[in-house]
Amino acid sequence: MVESKKQHLVAVVGAGPAGIYATRKLNEAGHVVLLLNRDIKPGGLAEYGIFLDKEKMKEGLRKQFKRILADPKVFYFGHVTVGQGKSIALEDLQKIGFSAVIVSAGAQGTKKLGIPGEECLGVYHAKDVVYHYNKLPPFSQRPFEVGERVAVIGMGNVMVDVANWLLNYKKVKEVTIVARRGPKEKAYDDSEFEVIEDYLDHEDMRRELQRIRPNLEAVGQNVDEILTGYQKTESPSDHILRFRYLCSPHRVIPSADGSVGALEIEFNELVLDGQKTVAKGLGRYSQIDLDCVIYAIGDQVDAGIGLPFSRGAFVTNPEKLPGDPNPASYQAFDPEAKKVLEGIYLVGWSRNASVGLVGVAKQDAERGMKVINQNLAKKQGFSVEEISQKIESLTAVLEKSRVPFVTKADVELLEAVEKEEARKRKTWEYKFSADEEMFSVISAQKAARSGASAQAALAVGEMAKLEQS
Ligand SMILES: Cc1cc2nc3c(=O)[nH]c(=O)nc-3n(C[C@H](O)[C@H](O)[C@H](O)COP(=O)(O)OP(=O)(O)OC[C@H]3O[C@@H](n4cnc5c(N)ncnc54)[C@H](O)[C@@H]3O)c2cc1C
Repeated sequence: MVESKKQHLVAVVGAGPAGIYATRKLNEAGHVVLLLNRDIKPGGLAEYGIFLDKEKMKEGLRKQFKRILADPKVFYFGHVTVGQGKSIALEDLQKIGFSAVIVSAGAQGTKKLGIPGEECLGVYHAKDVVYHYNKLPPFSQRPFEVGERVAVIGMGNVMVDVANWLLNYKKVKEVTIVARRGPKEKAYDDSEFEVIEDYLDHEDMRRELQRIRPNLEAVGQNVDEILTGYQKTESPSDHILRFRYLCSPHRVIPSADGSVGALEIEFNELVLDGQKTVAKGLGRYSQIDLDCVIYAIGDQVDAGIGLPFSRGAFVTNPEKLPGDPNPASYQAFDPEAKKVLEGIYLVGWSRNASVGLVGVAKQDAERGMKVINQNLAKKQGFSVEEISQKIESLTAVLEKSRVPFVTKADVELLEAVEKEEARKRKTWEYKFSADEEMFSVISAQKAARSGASAQAALAVGEMAKLEQS
């Protein structure tokens, strides 16, 4: 009987929500998945981005991810970065020959404003700060000196998380949110903002709204209505949150020691562009004295993965695929050769950088896999032997690159120790914050288990001898 080679082998690059939910859909279609992840532990920003105290959400996602990864058709390779000069290059994956390569590596590139002084000590990017407080190596081990006066640039939910960390955990004195547009254009959710609301200086907010009143009214916004939300008369405690609207960062001014001394901002006006408002610089400037500036302006994809890249995003097929409900296709595209990169697909934040919550990444992965599974169904898959040969080839490339990697059994050992450590410390979670630490915990667990199983074998042997005698 001729074996029908319908089982596909798919490499998924990145085990964040998009990669893991994509894996589930691929498994459901019967395909084997090799999941390659930069971090030792899976989860991406669900593990290392979502705010520290969101226990229920984080634990819920961890449980779901664990269940998905438990499928025997999933092979996990953690601490493996795909890219030029990294653990394995994209071309090496292509040489091994997968049915498809799904890039779900998130948005790991850093977006800058390109203003003078932004390389100063004390100018940070929200992603790095968020990775730091969520204990992702190597960010967990880097110092993030924030001082007492911090400006956060941007007005989305990530800004709220960073301000939450600054005010509630770092206890900084002043946090100033610098926003290009006005209060109506905020991108954060009010429910998220509640955690920092008490720090808001209402008197300062009223003054700020009066300052920008003429411009907001000129674009038809009702300032009195906005003001009704800011009627408190008592000042907040020693820690203050305030907004500077209609301001764009123009220059970071260093202090004598080279760290951040102040931020020069340019005042903007709001102008209408159809239904939308846009900010237009007025050429008038002011300064805010500061110790630290944190950009919470979204991220871009990491060009180092080795796919065609333009304006912060990987280039996708301009033609829509049948069944693709989104404007950009899931297929990677070479704009110079004007052709699709056959078999390479993008999902989640690698396709749409910094857009949406976990649910959006999940939906994107699921829609993407529908398209991809339809494509795979038309193609010849691999035999079981071919699949195991390819897994061996991948392992050989990784071993040659001398980058240690972990399997899902290793992650389970690590997580068990972290859970036990949390129990001892009476906290809901405990995380090791250095790769070396995690590797040594895994090795120690393996050694202990092999010791234990050797002892168990000895005991069984002794019992057998006893029974014979
Ligand atoms: C600060 C912050 C807070 C958030 N809070 C919430 C929240 O409260 N609720 C919510 O629903 N959503 C929240 N989100 C959004 C949510 O985290 C994202 O929607 C989601 O994580 C995107 O999933 P992803 O898989 O596309 O990318 P990511 O989560 O970034 O995952 C990418 C994965 O790829 C791996 N990787 C990266 N580069 C490589 C490479 N070269 N090779 C191999 N692997 C690689 C990484 O290790 C990572 O595991 C938050 C986002 C941020 C930034």
